[in-house]
Amino acid sequence: MLIPVGIKSEDSLKVNSKYGDIQLTPNELAWIKEHPEVRVAVKHGWMPIEFKLESDQHRGISVDYLHALGTIFNIRFIPIDYSESMSISSVDVISGVVSSNLKHSEFKKQPYPFLNVPFAIYVNKKLNDGPEVTSMSDLDDKRVAVFKNGPIAKEIANNYPNIKLLHVDIADEAFEELRLGRVDAYVGNQIIIDYHIVVHRLNFVEKVGMTPFSTDVSMAVRGDLPELASILDKGLQAIGKNNQEILEKWQITDSHYSRWLIPIIIITSLFLLVGLIGVFKLKQTLRRQRVEAKKTIWHQANYDYLTDLPNRHLLDTRLTQAMEKADESLSSVGILFIDLDNFKQVNDTAGHSIGDKLIKEAAGRITHCVRSYDTVARFGGDEFMVIMSDFDNEQALEKTSQKILVEIKKPFQIGGELFYISASIGLTIYPNDTSNPEALISYADQAMYEAKKLGRNRFQFFKASMQSDSTKRLELTNDLRNAIAHQQFELYYQPIISLSTEEILKAEALIRWNHPVKGLISPIEFISLAEEIGLIDEIGAWVFNQTLRDIKHIHTQYSTEFQISVNVSPNQFLKSERLLAWKALLANQGVAGRAICIEITEGLLLQPSVNVVNTISDLREAGVQFSIDDFGTGYSALAYLNKFDIEYVKIDQSFTQNLQPNNYDAILCEAIISMAHKLGMKVIAEGIETEAQQNLLNSFACDYGQGYLISRPKSFNDFMQFLFEMRSKQSLN
Ligand code: C2E
Ligand code: CA
Ligand code: CA
Repeated sequence: MLIPVGIKSEDSLKVNSKYGDIQLTPNELAWIKEHPEVRVAVKHGWMPIEFKLESDQHRGISVDYLHALGTIFNIRFIPIDYSESMSISSVDVISGVVSSNLKHSEFKKQPYPFLNVPFAIYVNKKLNDGPEVTSMSDLDDKRVAVFKNGPIAKEIANNYPNIKLLHVDIADEAFEELRLGRVDAYVGNQIIIDYHIVVHRLNFVEKVGMTPFSTDVSMAVRGDLPELASILDKGLQAIGKNNQEILEKWQITDSHYSRWLIPIIIITSLFLLVGLIGVFKLKQTLRRQRVEAKKTIWHQANYDYLTDLPNRHLLDTRLTQAMEKADESLSSVGILFIDLDNFKQVNDTAGHSIGDKLIKEAAGRITHCVRSYDTVARFGGDEFMVIMSDFDNEQALEKTSQKILVEIKKPFQIGGELFYISASIGLTIYPNDTSNPEALISYADQAMYEAKKLGRNRFQFFKASMQSDSTKRLELTNDLRNAIAHQQFELYYQPIISLSTEEILKAEALIRWNHPVKGLISPIEFISLAEEIGLIDEIGAWVFNQTLRDIKHIHTQYSTEFQISVNVSPNQFLKSERLLAWKALLANQGVAGRAICIEITEGLLLQPSVNVVNTISDLREAGVQFSIDDFGTGYSALAYLNKFDIEYVKIDQSFTQNLQPNNYDAILCEAIISMAHKLGMKVIAEGIETEAQQNLLNSFACDYGQGYLISRPKSFNDFMQFLFEMRSKQSLN
């Protein structure tokens, strides 16, 4: 425990602390008196250096350092969530920055780092059957995972050029590569990796050696607060880098013990017989300590600090286990989502410490209402979750819910005062409601809200009608990931007609998703989702391959001049290598580039990156044509399109549908068409639904038309049939 010593008297400049005396200047002392509170940006997921629990509490090595500093100087450090975009006016200190990594120029890194972490080498001990790896030089020509943004990637590239590096974003990714044997080793920050290994029980990962590299972690202080910077500097120097007392809580490495072990063994061995017994005992003690440390850290990561109930992390594990067991025994799992009513009010008026006590007491009461083998977890704040397996019927869940409601309704006596609250409970059942664990929790949450809406102090089972857009989306996301593998996509084609000759030599490919349960889903519902979850490139590749197959068919059966337009979202240009691969595919299949037209939106061209410009010009060189989709809805300038050599402009359907002789849209349409022609572009009008619209467009000399009037988008077979029907009709005329 730290002894709170603080600043002794009004005018003393010397601060005594358990770390020794610290000399402050009058300016520094005055600064502290004026600023009893200092705001610190703390990262939320950098375990164990700094991280945030579900209860919103910050923890970790840097947080312990802040605590020690706070005790020395009597400063209250208020943690604020770190973000790359946080505004400088909202924080004074950043608690942990790595040497190369200070993204906020208004902050200055402290000269004295509080932590120095060595980098170590880890392998998959289940797969590691090649020559033994113990140092960096054993990794020549091997595949090694490293953290992309850290200093280690550069160090290795510079010093060990023969190592093949795989850059990862997060530790989990590296562990996965290691597990699958796709890399031979993982080189990374020892404190972080050792912590992950214990917390996530990664039994297959083994530390086999150290590297010559290490990294410093320092605090950073706002550039305009030099007093604070020098105060913290003095404090940190007094506490010392890698303070053993602080690190012990978070570090469980073998090297940490062996450092002490070797000299101790030598000394004890000197005492011969006594020494032998000593070594044995010492080894045992160290082993016990290590097991204890592992247990403590695992507990910290899986249990809520306040109630000691399982936290969200462990809840997820328990829920999956319960679901697996239910599958085996063909039984069900019940979820109770419990939220305390009016808790916020108590917390705000009576204070956090009363609030905390109330949460603890409520946790105890809920635990008493369930069977010993049910899981009660704290979900965060005033929310709890119960997982019940092996129950007879819904009435059993109702009975438990009722019991909890009665218990929570009883007054809470805290610090001589009585507090009255109630609870609202939402219930879901696996597998009746859904088989997706995330959706199961989210449905229970929605049912709980329904219980609140109905007046609180009650429970409510989930009904499909409560399902919110967000959960619908969640389900859709999961299904979408499997849609390609399950061959659920289909391309529909909508003909594009020449308005002057009525010939059909073009069509637009429009994707459809045949969902096994929900039926045909429109791209409007899933394209933006695919973009968000990074699936659009894969879907785009599928669309292109299918188009190639179909166009070859059209070329042999109908006309070699036929062109198909495919929609390409701006997102797809980020991975341009996938688009450029289309050139090779065209060549391999013997299809001319001009058989394909790519529809893009003008947003892509407004401030195009070099990459976009090059990709477009590369594809154009291969003969592929381009058109601007939905023209008229965005920036709508034509002149700048000229420099990209775009062949077509597609007038958006909202214009087409508002066309009346001489109205504003008609004047605009006519102007767009004549302007496009002057710039050497052809115009396609979308969404033609009436003869009147088509005639008007024709009178403006619009080149092509597309819309329900001509044909709705059709499956490939229906579309081919339509083409032949139209051709025979034309030849009759
Ligand atoms: P879009 O490129 O503007 O495609 C035209 C949309 O208008 C299509 O909707 C089409 O069915 C519809 N449409 C055609 N004629 C008429 C008409 O006369 N009246 C009305 N009211 N609508 C008409 P769809 O097939 O639902 O596609 C919606 C959007 O999804 C497309 O808009 C396009 O942006 C996107 N999309 C479709 N397929 C793909 C694809 O393969 N990849 C990408 N990235 N996006 C696609
Ligand atoms: Ca389009
Ligand atoms: Ca369009």
